[in-house]
Amino acid sequence: MMDRPANTEASNFIRNIIDEDLASGKHTGIVTRFPPEPNGYLHIGHAKSICLNFGLARDYGGRCHLRFDDTNPTRDYEKYMESIMEDVKWLGFDWGEHLYYASDYFDQLYEFAIKLIKKGKAYVCSLSPEEIREYRGTLTEPGRESPYRNRSIEENLELFERMRKGEFADGEHVLRAKIDMASPNVVMRDPTLYRIRHLSHPRTGDKWCIYPMYDFTHCLSDALEGITHSICTLEFENNRPLYEWILEEVFDGPHPQQIEFARLNLSYTVMSKRKLLRLVEEGVVRGWDDPRMPTIAGLRRRGYTPEAIRDFCDRIGVAKANSMVDYALLEHCVREDLNARAERTMAVLKPLKVVITNYPEGQVEYVEAANHPQDPSMGTREIPFTREIYIEQDDFMEDPPKKFYRLAPGREVRLRFAYLITCTDVIKDEEGNIVEVHCTYDPETKGGSAPDGRKVKGTIHWVSAEHSIPAEVRLYDHLFTEENPDEGDFMEYINPKSLEVITDARVEPRMKSVKPLERFQFERVGYFCVDPDTTEDRLVFNRTVALRDSWAKIQNKL
Ligand code: ATP
Ligand code: MG
Repeated sequence: MMDRPANTEASNFIRNIIDEDLASGKHTGIVTRFPPEPNGYLHIGHAKSICLNFGLARDYGGRCHLRFDDTNPTRDYEKYMESIMEDVKWLGFDWGEHLYYASDYFDQLYEFAIKLIKKGKAYVCSLSPEEIREYRGTLTEPGRESPYRNRSIEENLELFERMRKGEFADGEHVLRAKIDMASPNVVMRDPTLYRIRHLSHPRTGDKWCIYPMYDFTHCLSDALEGITHSICTLEFENNRPLYEWILEEVFDGPHPQQIEFARLNLSYTVMSKRKLLRLVEEGVVRGWDDPRMPTIAGLRRRGYTPEAIRDFCDRIGVAKANSMVDYALLEHCVREDLNARAERTMAVLKPLKVVITNYPEGQVEYVEAANHPQDPSMGTREIPFTREIYIEQDDFMEDPPKKFYRLAPGREVRLRFAYLITCTDVIKDEEGNIVEVHCTYDPETKGGSAPDGRKVKGTIHWVSAEHSIPAEVRLYDHLFTEENPDEGDFMEYINPKSLEVITDARVEPRMKSVKPLERFQFERVGYFCVDPDTTEDRLVFNRTVALRDSWAKIQNKL
């Protein structure tokens, strides 16, 4: 079941905490951070965290840091950093001079580790990784103490120093916090703080062969940067006692407060970077910015605006309980935004030729069309009208039901901005396929209304056969057939029909001069955006979203 997004900005519990902290004088201002691991492109879930962290900083006059969590030397981080910065900026946020890298703190983290050892709160453990796992116990059974737990401070200092110097192989020793092997919270059972990895790091090169673990790095990075509120997702709730323990033991300044919130889950997609990477690597999609991907880059290429994404993040709010948000809400947000800002145009995705037999051959006449039905400031344009035009195949039926108000033999329909036409003939090939339709037009109806006041219910869109230009149009559907593809093997639920390519659509002549990422409403069809694959002689459009709003429908039923 989908949950309705109930939390608005006003009831954001994190704001309540901050308000109290400011009122009590605990803080005089706030500092937040967005700390991505640069191991993939950012997705819509990250957008929630970005809007939250940068949004709080903006609203409280504080600041938000961008910090790359680059502590794992096995990862290829460099190639993702650019895209992350681009996406945060595109969403409308700015970290100013506050760009940091967790690896910048390696020296200080090492000093903090020494401090812990000197306090008798950390030790070098020489169990193998498998033994450490085995000694840890389970959720129901306490762990057992490592036989190395009571090494002397001197021995620990010496061994840790030798670890740093590279005297041991990967996995031979680790540094562990000395907390409580019987703690009901498994995280607190002497967690590993440092491990040996003989690998060079993109930023620190070969300086280190021991690398700090996430739990050790994160709280201290927050503290070193003066973060006041360290906002993370719910999975880190069990790590909070460790976050606080480490700061308590070694950090003298003010301590940041960790606050957890529910991560965004969106229907019909997956959000983990590991899974998104698989889609890219296995060629299910064309890349991280494939318009079907829930990545910021994918949504941008699809035609989403930063405003629509920010609006979505506001509407889903911030809560303490995990839930699944309906993809239709995201679509609703972009539809509302584009409805206000996208210029209208006519495009025919599946053309059917119409010959207006009483219209003079070779004549071209220009009809005036508004670029936006409600916003006159967006101006008008002139569209060429000719004897041969294209209409949508779906807008014609040879043998229609009574309620079909579009074109059919003997029936009259309005061509948007142009004339009323009546169908007189249907032309077929030898196999009986309709190849063109013949009509007559009423010259008295320019602009679309009849002087005698006769009622014509249907209005259809069209383009001039001679003047329109061909375009490729890519229609997208959900990438997965299941609402929650994470239940089970997500690769089994890939929607084979998530992409439909139409190669012979026709668009208005003015589309000759469009730029990548320009957005339009194709009247009666949907919102579309110019794909960067567009070249001088090939126009490519992506459908951002269809016109029909399934979210509004859901809301009306509730
Ligand atoms: P993934 O599981 O996709 O790899 P992650 O949590 O490992 O995500 P990070 O790069 O570590 O990704 O995340 C950076 C920040 O974004 C973290 O603070 C994290 O809590 C937040 N974040 C990640 N995914 C979501 C989500 N689905 N909803 C809200 N916040 C998220
Ligand atoms: Mg992570």
